[in-house]
Amino acid sequence: MNELIKKIHSVAKSLGRVKLMEVCGGHTNTVMKYGLKEILPENVKLVSGPGCPVCVTSQKDIDAVVEMALNGIKIATYGDMLRVPGTKKSLADARSEGADIQVVYSVDEIKEKDRVFFGIGFETTTPMTARLLEKGFTVFSAHKTMPNAMKSLAQKMKIDGFIDPGHVSTITGSKMWEEINLGVPQVIAGFTPEAVTRAILLLLEMIKRGEKRVKNDYREVVLPNGNIVAKRLINKTMKPIDAEWRGMGIIPNSGLTPRKEELDARIKYADLIKNIKSIENPACKCNEVIRGLIEPKECPLFGRKCTPENPQGACMVSETEGACAIAFKYGGKK
Ligand code: SF4
Repeated sequence: MNELIKKIHSVAKSLGRVKLMEVCGGHTNTVMKYGLKEILPENVKLVSGPGCPVCVTSQKDIDAVVEMALNGIKIATYGDMLRVPGTKKSLADARSEGADIQVVYSVDEIKEKDRVFFGIGFETTTPMTARLLEKGFTVFSAHKTMPNAMKSLAQKMKIDGFIDPGHVSTITGSKMWEEINLGVPQVIAGFTPEAVTRAILLLLEMIKRGEKRVKNDYREVVLPNGNIVAKRLINKTMKPIDAEWRGMGIIPNSGLTPRKEELDARIKYADLIKNIKSIENPACKCNEVIRGLIEPKECPLFGRKCTPENPQGACMVSETEGACAIAFKYGGKK
């Protein structure tokens, strides 16, 4: 590790200001847990991107599912989604008012066909939702795909290099990243502190050489073509759509929705959710945290009004992927 840090400092000497981004909640966790930002030279900044699926789920989608639940539609979803604040209520609030909301760890726990699964996540969790669709269950899909979101970030935020999401890459494969060409160096990395530190070094070396290619440094898990079975299942049951991301707006072809309209809760319950007016909490800076514009601790509510026990925004909910919750866990209150 010491050798890697020394090399990072040595390569960085010949570079100007460099902004790198990790876009996987797992990497954010490693970076904050091991204080990796602190070991970097002054001219190298590592920012966290939109790698937390709970965080990037739009307020509108949360409000829509709360509305469905309050109108008697049975819902199933993952535990973290329960506590994300909506405009007026969270799913936890709806449940305390009597809404039927089942918290699941696996989609296999959903047995009733009239229960709607609120599916979130990137390429990694989408195969589970695809499996549910194959069995004929109805889904409210807030699933997102990474490539176009990263393209948008590379252009708008002037990112000099990406640590590509490791888990997502196990499904997509490394070839996909080569094909979409983000125009900046990328390293597919594992999740140990050494793996993330090595990814930073590899990115700096590529920047120094002027290379804009993809390096797969997680070969033990990420294959060139990814998980072909999972990709086939997703393609069979879901199709790409333009999706709304918290903090990033609508990004073309960055979401997935059920191919069969009769299994798409957005269509099935369109009348219930069409007039929802969503407003994000103006005091919450999640929008900026998600794009790496500010660090969680720069939000005035961090650790004061906003804590994991009482989240005021989506980024304080998931202790494994939400940048604010992770910063709170490893960095204290302020
Ligand atoms: S600390 Fe809380 S209020 Fe501030 S950006 Fe994070 S989630 Fe939002």
